[in-house]
Order: sequence, then structure tokens, then C-alpha cells
Amino acid sequence: MKSMLEAILPWCQPEWLKLKEALQNDRLPHALLLMGQPGLGKKKLADVLAHTVLCEKKTACGHCHSCHLWQAKSHPDFILIEPLADTQTIKIDQIRAVIESVNQTAMLNDYRVIIIHPAASMTLAAANALLKTLEEPSAKTLIILINDQSAKLPLTIKSRCQKILLKKPAKIPAMSWLQDQLPNLSIDFELLLNLSEGAPLKALALVSENQLTIREDFYQGLLNLSINRENPLDLALKWQDQNLLFLMQLLFSFLKDLLWFKLSSGEAVLINTDYAAVFAKLSIETQELVSYLNLVQQRFNEMGLMQNLNKQLLLEELLIRWTNYYVSG
Ligand SMILES: [Zn+2]
Repeated sequence: MKSMLEAILPWCQPEWLKLKEALQNDRLPHALLLMGQPGLGKKKLADVLAHTVLCEKKTACGHCHSCHLWQAKSHPDFILIEPLADTQTIKIDQIRAVIESVNQTAMLNDYRVIIIHPAASMTLAAANALLKTLEEPSAKTLIILINDQSAKLPLTIKSRCQKILLKKPAKIPAMSWLQDQLPNLSIDFELLLNLSEGAPLKALALVSENQLTIREDFYQGLLNLSINRENPLDLALKWQDQNLLFLMQLLFSFLKDLLWFKLSSGEAVLINTDYAAVFAKLSIETQELVSYLNLVQQRFNEMGLMQNLNKQLLLEELLIRWTNYYVSG
């Protein structure tokens, strides 16, 4: 088994040390809210904390009865609450089960740990049901709520938790960490980190899910459109099976960089550094670019609200708009 120190990601160490000290001094709060942008390892940290708290020696020793139960994923005093697959929400019934368990004695007569992940997927009714438990905690209960920084949680919930904000690592150590994880990959690690908003686990996912290739392909498609080498309808058909959210993020990132590039006459610090030369060649009125960006943003916001979204139609709209601006010149 990996030692605890190895399991904790380097940029999480400062927060981890504080938590460990609180545990050792018996000063752990009953409710923790673990916040930070996606890809920093919030869930990993919560898991290590849960394991350590449940361990008989409070070290995640790996040898005690409690650790064996943890490793077998069958610890009776641990509950993980995640969204139901069909609705992508955490429902009130799931929270009621937590409350019921909290009101009983822990099976192993020690701590009981509940992880709610991601906390913002609780329905309002579920969040309200949890409030009472957060207000009147039972002894030796630790509730860990995990939440992406941008996702909204009711203030009533937030104010009842001790907050821990994970910060992203500095660029140089993050790059060298990534290099260690991907020793056989020849790649621009700075670009990779840029594309992941500085979050190393997101960067790893970009590589493992082949998203860099998709990005390359998608941008090439845009450029082909701009010189009439491809038809927007064909392209929409080609992309409709891909993750639409990811494509929208790619498009938004591209347009935002292009705007920055134009506004700063090429001086701006870009996310897509590898496309600077391309941005220099593309000509577009700033006002048109802003209005296109607004459209993409608007469609992006609507995506979450729409049921049965027609991906192909949406892609067609966005790609045709691009073609209108970029008839080859
Ligand atoms: Zn143990």
C-alpha cells in the first residue's frame, strides 16, 4: 500500500497537514466543505481523510480491522453520497438515509464519515434536509462536502461548514509533477497546464481521454471552414457524437484567445499558445468576434437547461456563423 504521504498530492499537503493536526488534537469539525476548481484532487483528499479518521490508529495504517474494511470498500461507518445516474442530482431520500445513520451509534463504535460529492448536486429539498444534521451534529461524525468552486451551494449549508479551499499549484512544480506522471510523453507541458486551467489532474485527464487530439482536430476543422475547405454541415455531423460541452469549451477558448490577441495586437498571454501564428492570420472585426463569443456563451448557458438538446443543430448554428465571418480572403 502506498504511504499516506505519497497518496496526498503535493499541492494538497498544506491543507492535509492542518487536517491531520486537527484530528490528532481531536479538533476536527463535524462538517467540512472542501472547495476548489476541478482537477485539484478534492475527492482524493476527502478519501484519505475519511480513511485516516476511520482507522483505529488514525494513520490509515492499512493493517487494522477498520482499514481492512475500508480497503474492501465495505466499511459500515462510511457513506458516500453521489448523484443518481438518471437525474444527476442528490435527492432527499439519499440525505434521509444519512440522517438516519447519523442518529444511530457507529457500527465500530468510533467515527462515522459521510462524503457528499459534489455537494451542489443536492436538490434544494435534500440540502434543507441536511441542514438540521449540520446544525445539531452527533459526536464523532464527520461530514465532508465536496464542491467545485464555481458550483453554487446554498449559503445556509456553506455557513455551517468549516471551509477548506484547495489552491492550484504554481506553474513550475505543477509542470514537473506532470512530467513525472507522463515520463514517456513528448508534449508541451506548459500548454497542457494552460489548457487545464492549471489543474494537474485535469491535465492528466486531457491526455488519457485523448482530448488533445480532439482539440487539434476541432481547431483544424474551424480553420478549414475559414478557407472554405470544409462544409459546416458536414463538420457538425462529424462532431455530433463528441462531448458537446468539451467542444463548446474548445470553441470558447479559441475565440477568447483570438479576441485577446486582436485587442492586444498580439501581446496578450494566451491559453492556446500554439495557435498564436494562426490568430495572427485570421482577420475579423472585433465587434463581430464579441457578438460571436456572446452567442457561444449564451448557448453554453442554455445547454444545462435544455432537455433533449439537438446537438447537431446547435453545432450547425455555431459553425455556420463562423463560416459567415471567415470566408477565405
Ligand atoms: Zn488502520
